[in-house]
Amino acid sequence: MSDWPNPAPEVEDGTATGVALVGRDARGEFVITACNDAFLRMTGGARNALPATSVTSATSAIPAFPIAFDALVPAAVRPAFAAKLAACLASGAAQELDLAQASTDAPAEGARRARVSLTPIPHAHGTQVLVTGLDPAAPYPDAASAARYHAVVDSAYDAIVTIDQQHNITLFNHAAENLFGYTAGEVLGQPIVMLLPEQFRAKHPHNVQTFADTVQTRVRRMTPPRMDGSNSVYGLHRNGSIIPVEIAIAKIDVNGATEFTAVVRDITDRAELMQALKKQAVTDALTGLPNRREFLDFVDKALGANTVLSVFILDIDFFKNINDTHGHDAGDEVLRMLGNVGMSIPHAPTLFARWGGEEFVAALPGADADTARAIAETLRGRIEKQDVEHAWRVKPIPFTVSIGVVTRDADDRDVGALMKRADRALYRAKESGRNRVEVG
Ligand code: GH3
Ligand code: MG
Ligand code: MG
Repeated sequence: MSDWPNPAPEVEDGTATGVALVGRDARGEFVITACNDAFLRMTGGARNALPATSVTSATSAIPAFPIAFDALVPAAVRPAFAAKLAACLASGAAQELDLAQASTDAPAEGARRARVSLTPIPHAHGTQVLVTGLDPAAPYPDAASAARYHAVVDSAYDAIVTIDQQHNITLFNHAAENLFGYTAGEVLGQPIVMLLPEQFRAKHPHNVQTFADTVQTRVRRMTPPRMDGSNSVYGLHRNGSIIPVEIAIAKIDVNGATEFTAVVRDITDRAELMQALKKQAVTDALTGLPNRREFLDFVDKALGANTVLSVFILDIDFFKNINDTHGHDAGDEVLRMLGNVGMSIPHAPTLFARWGGEEFVAALPGADADTARAIAETLRGRIEKQDVEHAWRVKPIPFTVSIGVVTRDADDRDVGALMKRADRALYRAKESGRNRVEVG
């Protein structure tokens, strides 16, 4: 049939790369002088389509080469494939062929995505064509690559989780096992939402769909497109705890199906730090009370919502003398003690804050002028009588306070103006002898 030597009829199999050598026989027909299983899967051909005579034994089922091209390559891809082979031999230039596009009918399962390269191989007997392509039905290019792939995925510091089109988990590396507390065996095939806190589950399929629709297939591998508006989201550990995570998602086309790979990083430490910094920004370091910024923010919001609101400003009487007499540390202790008393105001909600220096403020939503005056008066009296629970770090120091109280008018919107009125009331309290409450 052909004068081609039979170079390697048993091209090693078990690889995902389809390989074949193709030449022409004496009649000018294409013949395959060697090929492997992956090549057959790739083209949609099958061993059981081989002529019985070309199968050497039932067990090994290795065909005897050369075999007619038409016998191995299914009719649907044959014309386009043959045309490329002819072009390759005629031009001596490499060719490419997309089997899925070339197919004249619905491509066979294995041939859905295969793209093959045709390379001319000059030979003493004339030119042959080396055909190579990736078998998409095989999970990995080859065994060594598969091992390498698993080693990389499993040694990754970040959790790597892949889901299929049904949003079921298909890959779960060691870091993911550590992060979520499940073994891969427990989650493979399970819906991804099991790794999400309850409140995010309902929206998740929609988010995945939106993400799938807006990101181009096959690109953005490892870039961090954002799902959910932000890429900081939450995961759910097996033990029920919620884990702040940052995710980068890649959309991957596998045999025509869309899969997603998420690289998930535990950002608990960072989230806690952010939380601490946020708190620090609105907290007075000495007393632990909310600071002026937090107070202004609170009152501003309260003024925006047409609720009844009173505020007062409190100033320690002759505080300078306390510092001068007992020292600055003792002065600090007085400020801390005042913080404790202010926080125990029974009216709820109350925001008691340090305004600065030895001045404090309280916002009393829901308190009218009489209520606010009564609250301020109680506070003033308790401080005067030292009727407070405070673990003094120094010898208890007696002191008094003056307080200016104001209640918002319905059209009051400006926190600055409201505080100025309170300040004027405070000034009157000082002017009229201190240790008293004035309503402005
Ligand atoms: P008045 O009754 O008129 O309010 O007199 P006063 O002495 O309380 O008022 P003045 O404003 O003269 O003094 C306030 C003092 O508060 C001066 C300042 O050194 C002291 N001070 C401000 N912040 C701190 C602080 O964080 N710790 C201590 N120990 N003292 C502070
Ligand atoms: Mg003052
Ligand atoms: Mg003072």
